[in-house]
Amino acid sequence: MNVFVTGGAGYIGSVCVEQLLNIGHNVTVFDNLTEGHRSAVDPRAQFVQGDLQDRPVIAQALKTAQAEAVLHFAANALVGESMTNPGKYFRNNVSGGLNLLDSALEAGVRKFVFSSTCATYGVPERMPMTEDLAQKPVNPYGESKLMFERILSWYHQLHRLEFVAFRYFNAAGASGQFGEHHRIETHLIPNVLQVVQGKKSHCEIFGTDYPTPDGTCIRDYIHIIDLAQAHIQALDPGKVGFFNLGNGDGYSVKEVIQTCEKITGKAIPVIAKPRRPGDPPKLVAAAVKARAELGWNPQYPKLEDIVRTAWAWHQAHPEGYPD
Ligand code: UDP
Repeated sequence: MNVFVTGGAGYIGSVCVEQLLNIGHNVTVFDNLTEGHRSAVDPRAQFVQGDLQDRPVIAQALKTAQAEAVLHFAANALVGESMTNPGKYFRNNVSGGLNLLDSALEAGVRKFVFSSTCATYGVPERMPMTEDLAQKPVNPYGESKLMFERILSWYHQLHRLEFVAFRYFNAAGASGQFGEHHRIETHLIPNVLQVVQGKKSHCEIFGTDYPTPDGTCIRDYIHIIDLAQAHIQALDPGKVGFFNLGNGDGYSVKEVIQTCEKITGKAIPVIAKPRRPGDPPKLVAAAVKARAELGWNPQYPKLEDIVRTAWAWHQAHPEGYPD
């Protein structure tokens, strides 16, 4: 297929592009490079530098690519920033997404795959989390993703557009070639590995008084290659709907740090800090629907494998991407 990938220079997008190319799809990456890195774009892909606010540029790029499917990763994704600059999140994630969606329909695209988030649920009512839980986001980031999910539902109903929206849990790990390099790094695993690399003196634990067995937050970590595989399966004709992407296993912040110590063989100094605003104590996916309906079968569910691949990538790319 001719697949058009927005945000293909970002962490999740770059690995998905690589996996799509590996199985013979033609890929065009569309990215404004504000968060992404040019060198994270697989050289086998076409690249267009453009912004989702610029509808004529999107339309031209879709036409040139002869796009049959769109994978829409491009977005702003920092919860904290969304609390101080909500307009940026609604503008880029909702209005930019709508520009893309309308342009895709005009270009005859029949499949649209969207990166949503477990942040659309807010503080979940039940655990593990199934797709039918109430969605009550507690920050503009989650709200912007939920708004776009609802737009997709209406476009499916009214324009018969096939869509798959994935609610990601905690993406982590790396492929051989592509990994995680955010200019502002807030995520746990890369922050811990930066301590091992000597870039930081210690790791901060945000909250040790949560109602969890060891007092630290529990999350469901999912390998980036497994995440990419779900997107590939979503391209099959007839697949439609909302799917959680997680493994169904929860690991606490302390367990993640211990696993990083085991994999790297280094002691990691930690400092307990206050809770980070907006962090729910526990987020774990039920992770059944994607397996049943998409035939998704994660290959790297173990936290050790996730950390091992992340560590291999950070060792091979100590400064991350050069651009
Ligand atoms: N966290 C932490 N120290 C860090 C980064 C994250 O204690 O340096 C915690 C964070 O509060 C959350 C968990 O680790 O409970 C996972 O955070 P991350 O930012 O990786 O993902 P999120 O679940 O927020 O999407």
